[in-house]
Amino acid sequence: MIPIIKPVFGPEEEKTVLEIMKSGQITRGKWTLKFKEEFSSYTGVTFCHTVCSGTAALYIALKALGINNREDRVIVPSMSFMATIDAVILAGGTPVVVDIGEDYCISPEALEEAVEKYSPKVVIPVHLFGQTADMDRINQICREKDIYVLEDAAQAHGAEYRGKKAGNLGDMAAFSFYASKNVAMGEGGAILTNDVYLDEKISNWIEFGDHPALNLRITEFQAGIGYWQLKKLEETNEKRRKIAKLYNEEFKNLPGLILPQEFEGRKHVYHIYALRHPERDKIVEQLIQKGIGARVYYEYTLHQLRNAEHLDCSFGEQVSREIFAIPVHAALKNDEVSYIIETVKDIINNL
Ligand SMILES: *Cc1c(COP(=O)(O)O)cnc(C)c1O
Repeated sequence: MIPIIKPVFGPEEEKTVLEIMKSGQITRGKWTLKFKEEFSSYTGVTFCHTVCSGTAALYIALKALGINNREDRVIVPSMSFMATIDAVILAGGTPVVVDIGEDYCISPEALEEAVEKYSPKVVIPVHLFGQTADMDRINQICREKDIYVLEDAAQAHGAEYRGKKAGNLGDMAAFSFYASKNVAMGEGGAILTNDVYLDEKISNWIEFGDHPALNLRITEFQAGIGYWQLKKLEETNEKRRKIAKLYNEEFKNLPGLILPQEFEGRKHVYHIYALRHPERDKIVEQLIQKGIGARVYYEYTLHQLRNAEHLDCSFGEQVSREIFAIPVHAALKNDEVSYIIETVKDIINNL
């Protein structure tokens, strides 16, 4: 089976894990500091905190932004991984779900309507599948009303919007370094901000001291692996982009198939290569039979999943019935890519 996702590790990661083990300093050491510095300089964001998962990063970010009780509304898009809405619920706030647009990210028009109706404290644009949301329009809507913008950048390491990196496009950002992500540590996460006041709020939630806090630290092993993953990110993202471009070229005339689009001014890093087709279930079943790890991201929408307040989300609902993903990761070999292309063509032409 060609797996849907596979991390690429090399001799640098191996050497570093051994070195950490031999040194005896297995948490709170130099690799955690090195990773934080490297991730700050890579994204161009001043302050970086590491935590044990992307979900923890979202939760801490929401607490730092003042989400506290049911009156505190947080806008999320109809399509994302469930952690985006679950973090809001865990933080004690009320999620309000609005629809996505053709870029599969939050629709600025829908956001504008929700802002009028609900007066939210925070909006979470999710850079879904590796492409950023329309951040200029989102920031403009939120700035006028003093609403915080929290990027969910868990799928968008290295993605860009008008030349700026994901993570540097709002008031705060949450990343994940889960095993499947473009930077993989196994488990891990980070919270970024350029605002010194918000940075202190984040610290208060994750560091023991004057306030009760949770221990959400990563180990030196995770930081050491993440450091090298980050060093390779431009290269592995470039490989993903090349495979995606080839798929787009090869699949462009297949009947009923909707391809991913890269929008003007944005650099897509193809965490997931997502296709749409009305006969999605049949296609995924046949791909798996032929040894290709196809998967559905996501077969749910967030308002349906958690029975949340929402505006009209009919496009997200349609997408959840049609969308599926094929492997696009940097560990793919040329013959595997060719086999995937031939198999997809064959299945769709014979439906
Ligand atoms: C993976 C992911 C998360 C959660 O990250 P974990 O590290 O698995 O907790 C949150 N949001 C999105 C969009 C994700 O893809």
